[in-house]
Amino acid sequence: MNNTPYTAPFPVSRMRRLRGSNALRDMLQEHHVSVNDLVYPMFVEENLDERTPITSLPDVFRETEQSIVTAAKEAHDLGINAIMLFGVSHNKDESGSDSMSESGLLYRMIDRVKQAVPDLLIIADTCFCEYTDHGHCGPINAKGGVDNDATLENLAKQAIIAARAGADIIAPSGMMDGMIGAIRAGLDSDGFEETPTMSYAAKFASCFYGPFRDAAGCSLENAPEGLRNDRKTYQMNPANADEALREVALDIAEGADMVMVKPGMPYLDIICRVKDTFKVPTFAYHVSGEFAMLKAASEKGWLEYDDALMETLLSFKRAGCDGVLSYGALDAARLLQKK
Ligand SMILES: [Zn+2]
Repeated sequence: MNNTPYTAPFPVSRMRRLRGSNALRDMLQEHHVSVNDLVYPMFVEENLDERTPITSLPDVFRETEQSIVTAAKEAHDLGINAIMLFGVSHNKDESGSDSMSESGLLYRMIDRVKQAVPDLLIIADTCFCEYTDHGHCGPINAKGGVDNDATLENLAKQAIIAARAGADIIAPSGMMDGMIGAIRAGLDSDGFEETPTMSYAAKFASCFYGPFRDAAGCSLENAPEGLRNDRKTYQMNPANADEALREVALDIAEGADMVMVKPGMPYLDIICRVKDTFKVPTFAYHVSGEFAMLKAASEKGWLEYDDALMETLLSFKRAGCDGVLSYGALDAARLLQKK
């Protein structure tokens, strides 16, 4: 069957008939961005005296363990439903053990925000790269690679710690095989059957993460020789699309409640195929490099930031996203209030 929608030929059909006024255009708009679509990623650094701007991510801060409360309240007051928390650790080791402890930064930051702003959903980025001294997403094995199965055990522990601290959603981002199954089993065994997972199911080894590495302090410069350049043994090849569908299928089979594609704008085709194929709640991460490009171009006067941000967010909705993680979430929320 031909799926092309039927349209009478010109001049019977005139597409411009439906574009003649603001009211007509508004009435016929297919997709919308609302504040409910927005997730705001935030950084919390321990032993920090005051919130500090991140040079490569304009208007984004490393918050202190105190200022994160004020910043989270600000997001909530703007109508944002969910934030994602990243820790900037000063207690790194080979396995990232600080993130598996109830006295560690991960537990403390989630607990603090949850107590202060209980209605704000906290999505716990669940990975080890912010907590390992080598910067990789799991411990290094004797063969000199990231140890998949040892990481799974640790991920289950970290997820339980996050859930105990009050995390509403567990979002593993390390692209380890079996990560959703391991986390699901861990959460269920600790009484968190109702805590959903949002899998970074198709995360690509992208150059667009650069500013984030600055922000979260997880560069690979201290990694062992041979592991210093990239995360290509676990994150996906940017050239592959069918493989992304297999990744998503596996995560759904393991119990993922929501899936994510990361980065966002260069991967809209993946988002579209994931949503069309699986019909599950689908998110995109509009990553640091994408956000920084918008800011840099607007600083130079080459782009209008507000318009470019809103068009970007709309493109995610059109591609099939249910929500978007963006450093522009607060800006977007303010712009939506003005409308
Ligand atoms: Zn990681």
